[in-house]
Amino acid sequence: MKIIIHGGFFSESGQSHEVKTAKQNSLKNIAQKAFDYLQTHSAFDTAAYAVSLLEDDELYNAGTGSQIQGDGIIRMSAAIINGETEKMSGVINIENVKNPILVAKALIGEDDRVLGGSGAKNYATEHGFENYSTEIPQRRKEYEEKLNNGGKGTVGCVAIDKDGKLAAATSTGGKGFEIPGRISDSATVAGNYANSFCAVSCTGVGEDIVSNATAAKIVTRVTDGMTLENAFTRTFEELKAIDGFAGAIAIDKKGNIFHQDSHPTMVFASFDGEQFKIFQ
Ligand code: ASP
Repeated sequence: MKIIIHGGFFSESGQSHEVKTAKQNSLKNIAQKAFDYLQTHSAFDTAAYAVSLLEDDELYNAGTGSQIQGDGIIRMSAAIINGETEKMSGVINIENVKNPILVAKALIGEDDRVLGGSGAKNYATEHGFENYSTEIPQRRKEYEEKLNNGGKGTVGCVAIDKDGKLAAATSTGGKGFEIPGRISDSATVAGNYANSFCAVSCTGVGEDIVSNATAAKIVTRVTDGMTLENAFTRTFEELKAIDGFAGAIAIDKKGNIFHQDSHPTMVFASFDGEQFKIFQ
């Protein structure tokens, strides 16, 4: 049983030392809670649970604390994939729900598993998800001052459970100030993908991640026999060739954990029951 989570990027220039310390503490705490949960739950349930905790922490750009889009409205996207069944479900540009990842998870049993906009919100309402504003005063202030604080605080989790089953979950408030209707990578197989060999969750510029097909490529390469490390190296070389910006976390079926980014400070924490690894 192992777990790795990410909370997007930390920019030394845009954020204070206090925020960095707060993110380190928050990630450690959530990795521990999710690992405890994994003792009695599947990787799939745990990935959703970990991402819901990250969504509830306003330090990150997902769920509560999400970025505001160009027209003043928050629209969030999230997806989850069960590595064993290769079933993925997600919501794109959903408004006014507390935990987009839990709506995404609820969709896993449906024939129509990725819903967008008002369809996603209607489904959430019909399935008991209350109306909830994820706006916080800080984001409104940034929006009003037309300040782009760098976004890049998407969250994700990859887990392997006691049966060796893998899952990945990812949730985002988007880039901030985007054209309404823009679709991020997070609810696509470029940003969130898994099968029985490997599971990956990404953060970064959605357009770059989609162009590079980052998560799907890493998983496919590992499935075809490449080591996790080599699959990352190759995929990030290709990302660099298009001047792309991204970070990714992963676990393979042997329980190897890996992460890489095209910037030195993707914030992450992993826990294998003995050792925490936390971004510095
Ligand atoms: N990938 C997200 C997006 O492009 C942003 C992020 O990772 O922070 O919407």
